[in-house]
Amino acid sequence: KIVSRFAPSPTGYLHIGGARTALFSWLLARAAGGEFRLRIEDTDRERSTQAATDAIIDSMKWLGLEHDGEIVFQSSRMERHNEVIDQLLDAGHAYYCQCSKEDVDAMRERAMQEGRKPKYDGTCRAMGLKEGVVRLKTPQDGATGYVDMVKGHISVENVEMDDMILRRSDGTPTYNLAVVVDDHDMGVNTVMRGDDHVNNTPRQILIYKALGWEVPQFGHVPMILGPDKKKLSKRHGALSVMEYEKMGYLPEAVCNYLARLGWSHGDQELFSMDEMVRLFSTDNLGKSPSVFDLTKFEWVNGQYMQEAAPERIADLLHEFHIREVGEEAAKAVDKATFLRIVPLLQTRAKSVIDMLEQAQPFIVDASALPYDDKAVEKFLTEETRALLSEILERMEALEEYSEKSLEDLHRQFLEDKDIKFKAIAQPIRVAIVGKTQSPGLFETMIALGKEQTLARLKRAIT
Ligand code: GLU
Repeated sequence: KIVSRFAPSPTGYLHIGGARTALFSWLLARAAGGEFRLRIEDTDRERSTQAATDAIIDSMKWLGLEHDGEIVFQSSRMERHNEVIDQLLDAGHAYYCQCSKEDVDAMRERAMQEGRKPKYDGTCRAMGLKEGVVRLKTPQDGATGYVDMVKGHISVENVEMDDMILRRSDGTPTYNLAVVVDDHDMGVNTVMRGDDHVNNTPRQILIYKALGWEVPQFGHVPMILGPDKKKLSKRHGALSVMEYEKMGYLPEAVCNYLARLGWSHGDQELFSMDEMVRLFSTDNLGKSPSVFDLTKFEWVNGQYMQEAAPERIADLLHEFHIREVGEEAAKAVDKATFLRIVPLLQTRAKSVIDMLEQAQPFIVDASALPYDDKAVEKFLTEETRALLSEILERMEALEEYSEKSLEDLHRQFLEDKDIKFKAIAQPIRVAIVGKTQSPGLFETMIALGKEQTLARLKRAIT
């Protein structure tokens, strides 16, 4: 059974790269009916914050990457880490070292001068010291290799590796030791992480071997780059996951897009979560870095906006409206109003925010509708106003207000006047929504309702 995990350090928010790693780990577990664990690596007390921990947990929840079992906080496991270090000491796989930083620097310097890899030279190995930092006794011959799920076979000569420190002089365990002990104790047998950790892996394997523990499978996913092929950063929109939520993107779209950054299944672009779970395999993970493409991401999100249940989008619009104008002011527009508008805008919006923006003309009163000056100047001329006023008269007399009756009314009007639809389409549009773009005219009139439509026409002609 596959047990995978995500092990973020809460030193910052969960960004898009970390989210993709989490998603791949989650998919690995779900695809195999395994378990997905979450461990917060909060041992760096200076840089870890509660806010970052909360944001990571919120982000995972929002993305739908639910974890199994309790969240493990690495900081609570120090005693266990030290117990394992003592075990390594007892078994002779580790030893105390009292070399100063200056000593070690000098050793490194010497090694470099002699054309060797700079490393600690093992001076204290045979000294039988009883205190100091604890180092692992790295085998001096052979190599440590494994088959990476993404990168293929990777091997490092053991002589290239330092006798790494397992416990610092202040008694705190080091990162590599803690990761190994936690993964082992959590039953993790499949580790997927960013390739910034690829150099740690042979070192961690040495610790597994010294302990006689089973070594997990490892996979290291390449970075995500910005369009300029540089490491993705804030200026590329490498924002935290919750920032994407705030921008009005849908979590399935984020997951879908992130999965496709580095994973493929033929040339298919859109995958539901279920489909990803069904199709995911490490065989199709890319070896080279992928480029984050905002335009494509927005396209993916747009597809999900179209497919989403109108009720869900209406709820989101309602919620975002509250966020934007506050609880009190938002009372003016209820969910039902949004639900009426959603079908008109669903194929036209890139995000919830974008849709809310496009919904503005539909949710303000006629008296507060903003008009685009250029459009007014161009389309609301004396001549067109005269036409609009006649249309208004006819509409006031309408008994039944429906798309069909509106269509009939306008057809008749064009016939009577012997003019083309083009002569009135944009003037009407500008009159009722204040600008030159909107969904279909008659559906817009229906969504606005008779009262608002008439009030807007009135306002436009006076
Ligand atoms: N805590 C590490 C990080 O945030 C990840 C460790 C791991 O996945 O092994 O980069």
